[in-house]
Amino acid sequence: METSITINRTVLTVVRGDITRIPADVIVNAANTSLLGGGGVDGAIHRAGGPEILDACRRIRAKQGGCPVGEAVITTAGLLPAKYVVHTVGPVWNGGDDDEAEKLRDCYRSSLTLAIEHGAATIAFPNISTGIYSFPKLLAAEIALDAVAEYLCELADDAPAPKRIIFVCYDAENEQIYRETLGNCS
Ligand code: ADP
Repeated sequence: METSITINRTVLTVVRGDITRIPADVIVNAANTSLLGGGGVDGAIHRAGGPEILDACRRIRAKQGGCPVGEAVITTAGLLPAKYVVHTVGPVWNGGDDDEAEKLRDCYRSSLTLAIEHGAATIAFPNISTGIYSFPKLLAAEIALDAVAEYLCELADDAPAPKRIIFVCYDAENEQIYRETLGNCS
């Protein structure tokens, strides 16, 4: 089942599933600052995508020494059905007084900028920071949808815009939250 809304020139969709199986131009990884892989969606992307992704991450690390929270880097998608992986680093939830909300917004913004620069028509996001990093799921979904909607609304009429952004929910709780939150946007 799909829930969708259109913002400016882009359709926003919620699906339940494994992001490694989504044939989008860009899939976004909830990485960590080391870029050397980890658990959760990061582990799944490196497992399914093969060593080419980690090699590319190592090259970026050698050049710029990892990726700060809120920023993003782009690599090949290796064996995945996507063209590229954008690795962004979400904030660890620390009670809310550590600028976590703004840092999470930055993840969505910087990922979109990189993806659009690489000509992506379809972009798939996981629910960044809501796993190991413990960001409250409802707040994270509200921030994700608001950040993406704001970004799309601010695109100039002659700027390239993605055709479709897919929010890929792995767990039932996030799926329900995203469907309700997206439904409330329409
Ligand atoms: P973080 O460290 O940013 O919290 P996690 O990978 O632990 O990153 O969790 C982020 C979200 O990704 C969680 O909601 C988790 O359920 C989800 N997730 C885990 N594996 C996958 C997957 N294969 N596809 C999509 N989402 C996934």
